Amino acid sequence: MQILIPIEEFQNNLFEWFSECGRHWIPWKLRKDGSFPESGEFISPYGIWIAEVMLQQTQLQTVIPYWEKWMKTFPTLIEVVEADEQKVLMQWQGLGYYSRAKRLHQSSKLLIEFTGKDNFLDPFAWPVELNQWLSLPGIGKSTAGSIISSAFDLPSPILDGNIKRIFSRLLATKNTPSKDQKTLWKMSSLLLSKKRPRDFNQALMDLGAKICTPQKPSCSCCPLQNYCVAYIKYDPHDFPKKEMKKIKTLQEIGIGLVFNKNGELLIDQRLETSNMGGMWEFPGGKKNPDEFIEDTIARELKEELGIVVKVGAKLLSFDHAYTNKRLYFTVHFCEWISGQPRPLASQKILWVSPEKLLDFPFPSANIKIISELHKQLSFRNKKL
Ligand code: SF4
Repeated sequence: MQILIPIEEFQNNLFEWFSECGRHWIPWKLRKDGSFPESGEFISPYGIWIAEVMLQQTQLQTVIPYWEKWMKTFPTLIEVVEADEQKVLMQWQGLGYYSRAKRLHQSSKLLIEFTGKDNFLDPFAWPVELNQWLSLPGIGKSTAGSIISSAFDLPSPILDGNIKRIFSRLLATKNTPSKDQKTLWKMSSLLLSKKRPRDFNQALMDLGAKICTPQKPSCSCCPLQNYCVAYIKYDPHDFPKKEMKKIKTLQEIGIGLVFNKNGELLIDQRLETSNMGGMWEFPGGKKNPDEFIEDTIARELKEELGIVVKVGAKLLSFDHAYTNKRLYFTVHFCEWISGQPRPLASQKILWVSPEKLLDFPFPSANIKIISELHKQLSFRNKKL
């Protein structure tokens, strides 16, 4: 596909819009004192790297409070390197896609080898080559490009969701973005300003977030309308062409809350090799077709922990959506009848008092259970 856009004019129009309407407040894109970096200036890549990994599956507005919390706990690279994985997962709790946190932790150890233990505060000691960033677990071409252009103002193209949408509309491409990766990357490289790569990439991301939005693009105030085939010839809503959506299957999950005689609850730690490995959860599992949920819980606790329980009152039921599936959780209190719990399907088990549960990293669905449990226990204590 031929890309016939007057590049300099395109860049100038975009920069003019950016200087007035860009999101110039994103905290990791600024100097430590909150001021704007000069053209060509190196700023700390540490906060940018953390933010870019958080942004891989999560919206900017959601990321900001997590990023701020993270920066308080781990103000520099060395604190991440020296933290244990549980502490890192605790900081990620609620953001989802926990493998990102684990890979970030692994990457911190590789990054400190690049910078050296005495130089990690110096932006010039950090890697500036695309391949160096691509060698880190969980860092793809667009994330690496965004880190390099944001931190060092070096010309490295990016292709995030916003930019794919803009380019697909500029070209009015008939293919889905995933089928047009090559063309879209070529466009990102070709249009990128070599003089102001930091501003250029940021301007495109901001335009995608504020003007060329997925649902109602504000074409009438778009600085790129003269180059946009979707706007000139078609209806921009018809672009980009939609990817086939995976149907979210619904799976029912039974969870058992087992107390010991000291009032402590049984929790288990997911296997390292599993999804959300290293996180803690309440025992339970998938309901078989034609099984009552109480039977699911009793069976799962026998299989996972080797204990026999009597399933009692229900605490709550709720729906929880993931990217490709929906889970319907039903949580019951259980009476522990026999057997010593063992981690037959997990790496570790623990008895924990209810007020200490939040000291452990749990996935979001389990946080809902903890919150309801705390409400019920405080209600019971008030009544006593
Ligand atoms: S003219 Fe409309 S569709 Fe085209 S880039 Fe601008 S906002 Fe997007």
